[in-house]
Amino acid sequence: MQLYNTLSGKKEKFKAIKKDEVSIYYCGMTLQESPHLGHMRAALTSDVLHRYLLFKGFKVRLIVNFTDIDDKVIEKAKEESRDFRKITAYYEEEYKKASRRLNILEPYFYPRATQHIKEIIEIIEQLFKKGFAYEVDGYVFFRVRKFNSYGKLSGRKTEELVSGARVAIDEKKENPIDFVIWKAMKHGEPYWFSPWGKGRPGWHIECSAMAIHYLGETIDIHGGGSDLIFPHHENEIAQSEAATGKPFAKFWVHNEMLNIKDEKMSKSLRNFIPINDLVEEFAPNIIRLYLLQAHYKKPLNYNRDMLNQAVSGWEHIKVFLDRTSGLEEKPIVSYIEEFENRMDDDLDTPGAIAIVFNLLHQANVVPEKEKGPYRETISIILKTLGFDITGEESKELSPVVDNILSLRNELRTEGNFKMADRIRDVLKVSGISVEDTEKETLWRIK
Ligand SMILES: [Zn+2]
Repeated sequence: MQLYNTLSGKKEKFKAIKKDEVSIYYCGMTLQESPHLGHMRAALTSDVLHRYLLFKGFKVRLIVNFTDIDDKVIEKAKEESRDFRKITAYYEEEYKKASRRLNILEPYFYPRATQHIKEIIEIIEQLFKKGFAYEVDGYVFFRVRKFNSYGKLSGRKTEELVSGARVAIDEKKENPIDFVIWKAMKHGEPYWFSPWGKGRPGWHIECSAMAIHYLGETIDIHGGGSDLIFPHHENEIAQSEAATGKPFAKFWVHNEMLNIKDEKMSKSLRNFIPINDLVEEFAPNIIRLYLLQAHYKKPLNYNRDMLNQAVSGWEHIKVFLDRTSGLEEKPIVSYIEEFENRMDDDLDTPGAIAIVFNLLHQANVVPEKEKGPYRETISIILKTLGFDITGEESKELSPVVDNILSLRNELRTEGNFKMADRIRDVLKVSGISVEDTEKETLWRIK
C-alpha cells in the first residue's frame, strides 16, 4: 500500500512500526463552531484510512483530538457570556452527532486538550531541560533556531521566515520565529497552574502531548487538513522531536480543503455549510459518495450540481441493491483485487467508486439469477468505503413496516390476537423481528 507522505513529498510504501497495528493521530476541530462540510472532509479522510487499514487486517488505534481551549474558544465564550466548557461541550456533541450520522467509525479515543494539562507540562519541562524552551513573563517559547531540521515538513526555511514581513514582532521573544507553547493568564480567562505561573497551553503543544501520551514517541501516521502543515504540524514536529530525540511520525497525510468558489470553507469567511443542516437535505450516503468521488489530495469545490449527481448515482446503487436483496453469493475476486489496487494507490476512492459503477453497468445485462456475485462485490466495496447499506434498507422499509404494525395494533386492541400474531410471524419470516414492550412495539431487520 502506498501513501503520499508530505514529509518526503512523494508516495511511499506503507509499513507499520508494529507488525499488525497502526497508530494514527488526526488533528480534529476547535470546539467553537458547528462542524461543516470542510471538517467532515477531514473526518471522512481519516475514516476511509481507518476502515481500509482494518480491511487490510491491521488493528488501528486512531486518535482524533478536540481543541477545547484557545483564543477562538475564549472569544466565543466572551461573546456568549457563557463558560467555555459549556461552549465546547455543545460543539463536541454536534461534531459527534454529525460523525454518527455520516457513519464515521468511532476512533479509539477523542481526547480534549484540557484533559492533558499534566502531559503538556511534562513535555514543556523536557524542552526546558534540553534548552529548547525559555520563559519570559509567564510565557514559554520554543527556540526554533536550536531545532536544526525546522521546516522539513513544510519546506520553509528559517531565514525566509525571519525576513518575512508578516512575522509578528513580539518583544518577549528572543527571535521573531519562536512560537509560544505556554501563555500567561490574562484577566478573566481560564487558567491552569504550571511551574511558570497560571496560564494555558499554546495550540501546537497539545497535539504533541496527546499523540505521545496515547500512541508513543513515534507514530505511524499523523494527519490533518493541508492548512495545518504550517505552522501547526511543523511546530508539532519541532516540539516532539526536540523533547524525545526520536522521529515523531513516519507518515504525514494531509487532506486538501473543501472550497466554496475557490476559497476555503470556514466560519471566518462566512461561507460554511453546517453538516447537520446538509444531512437534512441529502442522505449521509450521498454526502459520502460526493466527497469520496474526489481524491482526498485534490481541492474540492462545493458544488450543488455534483451533490445532485451523487443523488442519482446513489439511487442507481440503491435500486440495484434492493432489487437483488437476498441474492448472496461469492464476490468476483478479480474486482476485489482491482478495488485493492485502487485503494493501495494512495486511497484512490474515485477509482474505487468507478469500479462500483462499472459493476452496476455489467450486472444490468446479465440474467437475474447471475446478479448475486455482482451484488456481493459491490457490497464489499461500499462497506469498506464506509457506506451504510443496512441503514439504507431499514430507512426504506420504515414506512411500510410502520403501517403494517399499526394495523397489527388495531387488531390487538380489537382482541384479534390470532391475526396479530400471524402478522408478527409473517414479518419474522421476512427477516423482521417484532418486540412488544409496555409502551410501544419495536422492530428491527435481522
Ligand atoms: Zn493538531
